[in-house]
Amino acid sequence: MTIQLSRRKLLKLTALASAALALPALGQGVTQIGRGRTSYALGQIGGKTEIVAASSVPVICTYCSMGCSIDFYVAGNNIVWTSGSPDSYINWGALCPKGKAAFQLVDNELRVLQPMIRTGPKPPPDEILSANTWDELVAVVKKYPPQWRPATWEEALSYIASRISNILNSWRASTGQPKQKDGYYYLGAQVPIQIIGSSILTNEEAYLSKKLAVFLGTNNMDSQYRKCHSSTVSSLAVTYGWGAETASIEDVALADVVLFFSSPAEAHPLSFNYFLKGKKERGTIFITFDPRYSRTAMMSDIWVPFRSGTDAAVLLYILHYAFFERNPPIDQLPEFQSLMSRWNITGDDLADLKQLVQSYTAQEVSRITGVSPDLLRQVASIYVENSGVVTGHKKHGIIQWAMGFTQHTNATINIIRAAAIVQLLLGNVGYPGGGRTRSGATATSRAPPTSRDRATRASPAITRCPGARRWLGYTRTGSYRACPTLGIGRYRIGHRKSWGALSRRGAPLI
Ligand code: SF4
Repeated sequence: MTIQLSRRKLLKLTALASAALALPALGQGVTQIGRGRTSYALGQIGGKTEIVAASSVPVICTYCSMGCSIDFYVAGNNIVWTSGSPDSYINWGALCPKGKAAFQLVDNELRVLQPMIRTGPKPPPDEILSANTWDELVAVVKKYPPQWRPATWEEALSYIASRISNILNSWRASTGQPKQKDGYYYLGAQVPIQIIGSSILTNEEAYLSKKLAVFLGTNNMDSQYRKCHSSTVSSLAVTYGWGAETASIEDVALADVVLFFSSPAEAHPLSFNYFLKGKKERGTIFITFDPRYSRTAMMSDIWVPFRSGTDAAVLLYILHYAFFERNPPIDQLPEFQSLMSRWNITGDDLADLKQLVQSYTAQEVSRITGVSPDLLRQVASIYVENSGVVTGHKKHGIIQWAMGFTQHTNATINIIRAAAIVQLLLGNVGYPGGGRTRSGATATSRAPPTSRDRATRASPAITRCPGARRWLGYTRTGSYRACPTLGIGRYRIGHRKSWGALSRRGAPLI
């Protein structure tokens, strides 16, 4: 007899079976639960096995911006098994070792389960700033060892409220700022309160933190997103009009060539599955720029070790090749003319740009980056020949980056703008398999909605942001979001089935 099982059903059954097999290992802990036990006959093997009912609790992995869905199988107070959610359209039942170990965030004797109030004094800022060496700094920290006492939530919340109230009252008294009649304070950067969030906040928490800031009258809000991708957001916003990525993670499986400027195989392991899918099914060419021989480099067709921080020169050479070495130059192709009108590029704009990239010859870029001119030419030729502008949009390339690319001192003005402009001029934006993907550091949501983030929040691109997709997917509603800018209906959230239909090339992605 042949048993027909979908991949999803198989993964679910496997997870349940694994949970059942793991239960005996819990020994006494499980025996005490004593509920929902069932004996199952083992068929041809003979005998019976006892299975304790476990319920599945869906959570989101907090470790990287993939935001994989995890199912914790819980019996009583114990997590007895962890598996990737087979319903997730991000990780499809798989987990990397970090996600697999996420149960340790719950089941960990070091976890603090109640608020703690500091009792020891903090090091005075003057003493910290007067330390001139590492040893002097360590001495200051050791002089004020942190001491804590446990508190109830009620005590902790009233402690926080009274501290905030005291700070605001003394600020108002010293500056003469009046409290407004409706109870709100004046908004301003001078208000001595700052709210700092991170991408670990859920969307609802981010929304409420902004509400709290407005109520307190401060516009001092910041987040981990500033160090993570502020260069990405500000560069893309001035180039494209919004600061988010132009390719969804599922799009990368349709790329014909990918330039990696990070190592997703290590930093965002399950995102790399999508790249590998493209490699397996359409032979996507992987080119990795990394001074290190990373796991991504290991899977690449070409690994280009280069001098760290010289990414912009590499990207400008790609344009130099396209305009000055290729025959015919891309600006003589009809597709380029239509791109110029699509992107509103004038002849003067193009002349300015060509003047800039003309000096980035292979020899000059080799001097800057340490890469041989031949290797630069090989890479540029592969990337340009597989671009939308050269192939009439039969092929496209993706530029992928993450931390590192974003954190050079010249990331905002030079590197990321160069990547964005390369993609625009090569016709790689706005098509499946083209664009840029950039992976963030942490999961779950956008940072608190500071004014800097507003464009991102308002943009339809947020429906392609892993955080937003994850949040929508978590509800498992299959809700629909159309992108009015890049093509109506390209993105449907939460429904695996619809993905194939979204691809212009007609091939189901998963
Ligand atoms: S790829 Fe990222 S989100 Fe997914 S399991 Fe690993 S660490 Fe967690």
